Amino acid sequence: MNIPEQRIQIALQKSGRLTDHSLDLLSRCGLKFTRSRDQLFCYGENMPIDILLVRDDDIPALVSDDVCDLGIAGLNVVHEKRLQIGTDEQPAMFDQVYSLDFGHCRLAIAAPKDTEYCGPSTLQGSRIATSYPASVAEFLQQHGIDADIVYLSGAVEIATRLGRADFICDLVCTGSTLAANQLREVQTVFESNAVVIQTRAPLSQTKQDLVDRILQRVNGVLQVQESKYVMLHAPRSALKEIAALLPGSESPTIIPLEGFDDKVAIHVVCRENVFWETLENLKAVGASSLLVLPVEKMLV
Ligand code: ATP
Ligand code: ZN
Repeated sequence: MNIPEQRIQIALQKSGRLTDHSLDLLSRCGLKFTRSRDQLFCYGENMPIDILLVRDDDIPALVSDDVCDLGIAGLNVVHEKRLQIGTDEQPAMFDQVYSLDFGHCRLAIAAPKDTEYCGPSTLQGSRIATSYPASVAEFLQQHGIDADIVYLSGAVEIATRLGRADFICDLVCTGSTLAANQLREVQTVFESNAVVIQTRAPLSQTKQDLVDRILQRVNGVLQVQESKYVMLHAPRSALKEIAALLPGSESPTIIPLEGFDDKVAIHVVCRENVFWETLENLKAVGASSLLVLPVEKMLV
């Protein structure tokens, strides 16, 4: 019997701020793919993994409905859709499994420059324009505030000037769009960055193994981002001090140095970035021949 190959599907943003970073992450996980002519699909050549390229807003529902097994989207979109799709009885069918170091921004409330703001209670009885109605409703509820939410799918930043709202709640990154519209950021609702989501639908063993494998590689890529391999020479007597100076390191490898009884070579993986100051401090306690190398892959 010919069993059809079981492939997993990963949903990524088709064209936007998350696209290059997301494709780059999967490349660094070792996935090689070719993009279809219509640019909507990438076929995984070396693993049974395909990429669906869609609008970021559609990614949570695709993963929740098990059309895709994994997805990458901004927490802002993921959180909003989780509130919209899910209910207390039937929560959205996806889990947030990794937080990624790109797509940093925040969902924030802004007011016209001359509006006074003294905390969430200022919002009582006001009108707030937003494309994130569920997140804003949650924020208001958490603070016991009653306000009108005016849903707008775009151009939220002009809502106060048009007289449609007193405040807006939108994504803010640099704040330049707000400034250009004479608005002032007054309240962060939550900080956001790109996240990996995974379907909660039960998968066949083959697909589950593939999902686990790719997630383990994502974990490996995230671990090495900041990690450094440090090599140095040091007197044996300074071992304790040196270990204390190396951030996030596990037990070091100690190698004897030919012709020296009291001096050793130390090799260690640091899970955090190693700065010049750290090297200077290491030198001050007797280390020499210091070398810091990037780590390319890590599987723990
Ligand atoms: P589409 O709906 O067509 O996929 P979009 O206009 O909603 O695109 P982008 O503007 O590309 O999406 O933003 C995608 C995500 O990137 C946002 O939801 C947010 O998580 C994050 N983001 C937004 N602005 C920035 C920024 N200036 N820098 C980094 N990340 C951002
Ligand atoms: Zn979008």
